[in-house]
Amino acid sequence: MPPFMEPFRIKSVEPIPFPTAGERRDALVAAGWNLFRVPAGAITIDLLTDSGTAAMSAAQWSALMRGDESYAGARSFDRFESVVRDLTGYPEVLPVHQGRAAERIVLGLLLRPGDISVSNTHFDSTRASVEAAGAQAVDLPVPIARGEPAPFGGDIDLDRLRDLLRRSADRVRCVVLTITNNAGGGQPVSVRNVKATRQLCDEHGVLLYLDASRFAENAYLVTEREEGYQGRTPREVARVVFDLADGCWASLKKDGMANIGGLIALRDAGLARRAREQLIAFEGFPTYGGLAGRDLEALAQGLLEVIEPDYLRYRAECARWFGEQLGLAGLPVLQPTGCHAVYVDAGEMLSHIPPHELPATAFGNALYLAGGVRVTELGTLVFGRRDPDGGPDVPAPRELVRFTLPRRVYTLSHLEYVVDVAETVSSKAGRLTGYRIVEQAGALRQFTAVLRPAA
Ligand SMILES: *Cc1c(COP(=O)(O)O)cnc(C)c1O
Repeated sequence: MPPFMEPFRIKSVEPIPFPTAGERRDALVAAGWNLFRVPAGAITIDLLTDSGTAAMSAAQWSALMRGDESYAGARSFDRFESVVRDLTGYPEVLPVHQGRAAERIVLGLLLRPGDISVSNTHFDSTRASVEAAGAQAVDLPVPIARGEPAPFGGDIDLDRLRDLLRRSADRVRCVVLTITNNAGGGQPVSVRNVKATRQLCDEHGVLLYLDASRFAENAYLVTEREEGYQGRTPREVARVVFDLADGCWASLKKDGMANIGGLIALRDAGLARRAREQLIAFEGFPTYGGLAGRDLEALAQGLLEVIEPDYLRYRAECARWFGEQLGLAGLPVLQPTGCHAVYVDAGEMLSHIPPHELPATAFGNALYLAGGVRVTELGTLVFGRRDPDGGPDVPAPRELVRFTLPRRVYTLSHLEYVVDVAETVSSKAGRLTGYRIVEQAGALRQFTAVLRPAA
């Protein structure tokens, strides 16, 4: 028996597709052996992403009906603003259509060509906004020894940050802490790390912003793991963290518990005024920012639900249990698990497949063929760089596969099914073969690449 159950019951259901083994094979061939190109109608359990895939609550669905679709000054904005102010303490609140719009606006206003933005890890769209401003994105994740569990694997490396600030404080414009650190396995950032970062920023006159897309999951993991915060509520911890920063942005497709949305929340009224000008030019009037009034209602309610301890406990326990089960099924699972996903080291399982033949892709495709399960590859297809001389790819540091958990969507029995499928694949791992890239785009090639089996 798992040590928890879903803290909700189901009121509205959606059938899931059960393509046959033959249909799955046909779909994958037609998709150029790339799971991103497989239609959702051919997927049984979709663990591709936790972005925009949440199930809304009955309270959110009823809030939609309250949506005020006035162009200017909509009441739905007032509700959204008041929930965000309450959570963050930041007075200036701007809605945007999704996280990357927020990044483009804030980083576009803060950064000048030649500036540096430092982070525990810039999310890929964050990095793109930094580089679009002509600035440099420097990632300083805390080093994690292989096989050694790190409770705060999302932290920024304070020694390297101190060094960088000493050497080039005049070029560093901002530090961005991504909470939780998605690229780093969804691991949390400790309050102690945020406090030390704040102090370094103050010593050098540098701004501190949060990419708060998973702020609630980060806060919950702090209440579990950090000395001094056990017994505090996730809301209290989230507020301690927000208090330490100059502002935040977030993709509300994650901890907003809705299917679209984002936000900017700031202390600096001058920056907020300039951000509103950008918002009007590129997103929409400042009281809707590219969203419908009903979206703002769903988000305001979602932000109240996501910070509830019962929900967050279930979320973390679910990932932990799922990770344990996948481990028992023979998969090398990265520990500790966070909240939004379980990461598996496909390179370790498929050590007979060289990185340029995409072992993580091979593992993901095998899961789909065996049971219609879709996961994300985070290996050489995503992070490998093309050799400029036309040789094989420069391999990614690790060949990971991410089993991502949409919020409130799949029950334990769905995840048990995934574990069964994973066990089948793991039992024949030694016989799996790799892939080669036939067609690829210059950037973000994983979304569109066409592959073929290497054998
Ligand atoms: C998803 C995400 C973003 C980008 O947000 P979108 O809503 O997809 O544009 C930025 N940062 C982090 C940490 C994310 O997870």
